[in-house]
Amino acid sequence: MLETRELCKTYKPKKGVPVTAVDHVSLRFPEKGMVFLLGKSGSGKSTLLNLLGGLDQYDGGEIIIKGISSKDFSQQRFDSYRNTYVGFIFQEYNVLEEFSVGANIALALELQGKKATDEELNRILTTVDLTGFGSRKPNELSGGQKQRVAIARALVKNPEIIMADEPTGALDSATGRQVLDTLKKLSAEKLVIIVSHDREYAEAYADRIIELADGKVIRDVEVDQTAADSEEKQLRFRQTSIEIPADYHLTEEDRIRINEYLDKLKSGASIMLPSNARRFAETDQSKIPAQDGSKFYLIKSRLPLGSAFKIGCSSLKHKRFRLVMTILLSVVAFTLFSLVDTFGSFDIINSSTDSIIDSGQNYLSINRKARAGSEKNPYYTTTGQHFTDEQIKQVSEDLGIPMVGIFCPVAGNLKFTSQYDTDYKFSEEGTPLNYSHFCGFAEISEQMLKDMDYKLVAGSLPADGKNEIAISRVLCDTFVKAGYLAPDKIVDESPMAIGMDGMPPEGFDGMNPGTAAADTERIKPEYEKIASEQDMIGKEIRLLNTNYTVTGVVDTKMDMSRYQKLTESTEGISRAEQVVRYLLLSEFRTDTNYSLSGCAMVGKNIIGGLAEQQPKIYHIADGDLTLSNQDSANEVEAWIHGYFSQITKAELLKSENVIWVDGAKTSLADNEIIVPFSNLYYNSNNSTDNTEALFTQYQTGMKKLDAEAAKTLVDKIKSLNPVLYRWGVDPESVYWKDTSIIDSSDLKIVGFFAPGSNYDDVIGLSESMFERYLYGSEGIYDSAIGAMPGDRAGVRRAVAYCYQEGVTDPEYMYEINSAEALEIDMIGDALKDIAKVFFWIGVGFAIFASLLMANFITTSIHYKRQEIGILRAIGSRSADVFRSFFSESCVIAMINFALSCAGCITAVRVINYFIREEGILITVLHFGARQVILLIAVSLAVAALASFFPVMRIASKKPIDAIRDK
Ligand code: ADP
Ligand code: MG
Repeated sequence: MLETRELCKTYKPKKGVPVTAVDHVSLRFPEKGMVFLLGKSGSGKSTLLNLLGGLDQYDGGEIIIKGISSKDFSQQRFDSYRNTYVGFIFQEYNVLEEFSVGANIALALELQGKKATDEELNRILTTVDLTGFGSRKPNELSGGQKQRVAIARALVKNPEIIMADEPTGALDSATGRQVLDTLKKLSAEKLVIIVSHDREYAEAYADRIIELADGKVIRDVEVDQTAADSEEKQLRFRQTSIEIPADYHLTEEDRIRINEYLDKLKSGASIMLPSNARRFAETDQSKIPAQDGSKFYLIKSRLPLGSAFKIGCSSLKHKRFRLVMTILLSVVAFTLFSLVDTFGSFDIINSSTDSIIDSGQNYLSINRKARAGSEKNPYYTTTGQHFTDEQIKQVSEDLGIPMVGIFCPVAGNLKFTSQYDTDYKFSEEGTPLNYSHFCGFAEISEQMLKDMDYKLVAGSLPADGKNEIAISRVLCDTFVKAGYLAPDKIVDESPMAIGMDGMPPEGFDGMNPGTAAADTERIKPEYEKIASEQDMIGKEIRLLNTNYTVTGVVDTKMDMSRYQKLTESTEGISRAEQVVRYLLLSEFRTDTNYSLSGCAMVGKNIIGGLAEQQPKIYHIADGDLTLSNQDSANEVEAWIHGYFSQITKAELLKSENVIWVDGAKTSLADNEIIVPFSNLYYNSNNSTDNTEALFTQYQTGMKKLDAEAAKTLVDKIKSLNPVLYRWGVDPESVYWKDTSIIDSSDLKIVGFFAPGSNYDDVIGLSESMFERYLYGSEGIYDSAIGAMPGDRAGVRRAVAYCYQEGVTDPEYMYEINSAEALEIDMIGDALKDIAKVFFWIGVGFAIFASLLMANFITTSIHYKRQEIGILRAIGSRSADVFRSFFSESCVIAMINFALSCAGCITAVRVINYFIREEGILITVLHFGARQVILLIAVSLAVAALASFFPVMRIASKKPIDAIRDK
């Protein structure tokens, strides 16, 4: 069964001399019977037993198990060997205190992959005289009872070998005897190896006694069977009884011995069994057959998950404070980690989507943005960008939303302030929320209103090609409240208005336009009362010098109550409240400027004609043009200065818009320019010279500038040497870097745009220069409007399209006209930059949390190292041990995960709420699947790592060292 050959074990302590605890021991053990390893303390008994049980590693010779040498066994195979063949009983019992008696016993069986039935458990408990103790906890048991639990645990898996190291050492003699009796019973079928220093016990119970001294076998004897037979007719003193052979006759001496025995039994003193009761003779090991290894097999332990879980969790009950603190701290760290991650993973598209949904915007209004800047540093700008009819059609198709263009004239405004009573107080103390201008023209149709889910509340839709408009209900409200004045009754209030003779109107003092005196003299016109929307039907509104008849009023579903706060007094409001109002106002402005609510809704074939009449002004790309004198302005009388971002060319101009110096031109030479007259400056040093006064008169419009005047002025300012600089971004630079380069010099002014004209901020250029600077698209529409999809997915799709998600460096993107979207763009840019920093902060928190958790688990495992040793001793592999401690970590990890999730969701809510409170309309943070997955992944990874290393460290130890707490 079990054999040692020249087995050696030397302890080499770090300090002191090496001790050879087992010194060339060669023994062969029988299949069954009770073998005692006897010897003084320190003689090497325990060491030998531990080697036999695979709890310790030998360093010389070999152990042969069922004919198989264990020389090359790994720790794992030794674990399995114990699991399969050995029941180990320790002097210090080593039962698992966390488990009930029944569970302790069941665990050993489960390690063999068997299920312990109650019946079986009860049977085993009865064998060790512990009937009914199954549900007791070890700490409720006496030492002897615990030892019997340990025996039961060894027995339950029905091992072929039972090894016991001083099983009676900690027990009183009566209990010790009980234990030995139990083991003796078992030795009828099994090999029972008992370590003891008690010769009396050995001689009373052993079938064979192997005596050790200094690690060597000094005596090896077995019960002399023949002697026993010959002395059959003799009294046999047992622990609690005396056996008298049937045909025996008691002698007087026997009577005395019996009485002595009975007295001792009564007094409870230890009974010295007569040593002559058994005779021992030299062991003849040759009678023990050697085995060929054919019967060798191993059962790999497999700790059921439930038990692994139970072992792991049992420790959570202790060190509660530590556990709570660890969890609290790591929850905080994990929460911060995922929170930082939500910041870091701020997603512009999701945020925009959420914000649009949260704000309840029912329309989608977009502007076109084109890529500009350098290759290295591209940016997107709406400057000069328009939609053509084809582009609007394309966008409608791409989005699956019918879109309509909004046309905003470059020149002229769409105010209708002269047609209602501006003295009317729309708001007593706060901001008046009335419409006073149109934001543009939009060609609508019945289908369009249907798509938008807008309804006509009065009148009918404007006819195609006619000067008819429909207005929104909210815009109509201005007239309902403040009355209406027909276009022909409009009194020109402009104090700048110039009379036919070129002289300013009466009351104009030339310095302070619009004095109080002029105001009182103004006669207030009689405004018509508009009682309902119906009353506006048929009324005319004057826009761009054309009268448009109102044919209908449309409900654009604009919720004005949302902005009601703005009409309240601003007195004593907090700073935060001011911000809220500011942003709310910008939201209102978006509604008025980019939605159909603010549009003059017209029929088909109107906008084309309007666009045709507009001055042909174009934008330039990247920065602007600066016109200036080449020489310093200090020394000269006249100079020119102006910034231009808009350009035009002679070919596009109607001649009446220009005051030509040398006759009208249809095209300009390369150095010829047309400039706004307002960009000229004159400073005379000569008091007799009236040029300066003339300049002022022309520029304020007091005197009409004509070709004649222009010619004389140019003569006066011949000294002018205008230079055109170009300001913009250095295309080579990765970062923004303004550069200024002289683009053209020796320029010649050939014409002026009159002050107050549509071309006041425009520079007229030659064909070639115009082409060089031209930027922007052909189209005529500033924005496109359609219905916002009703579902989140639809909104997200639209937003993603606008940001051209998935397209790298797209030529065009679309700006969503909503206060939220603009804010998000701003925040998004900022967050993008700090996202990287946030990422590392997040990693930092995650590491911190991991270390906390790892520390907790490590300590917890450290506390349990003895238990791990016990588990190993009863046959579980390191994998099982890992499983139980991993489940402990997992429980912590999951508690952590759940709390961190809750923490993060709460934090995100609170932060979003405060951001909103601060007046920012957008939903900045988004706690989503990504964070949940991250939290789970990190928690589990930490749990695994934090369990793995400490468990492996302990598992790599010899089980005996773990048990001994080294
Ligand atoms: P016994 O069980 O017979 O009392 P042991 O087998 O425990 O004896 O010890 C045998 C010898 O080995 C003793 O001298 C003891 O001091 C030494 N010894 C036992 N275990 C260790 C150890 N882990 N490290 C160093 N020496 C040890
Ligand atoms: Mg010992």
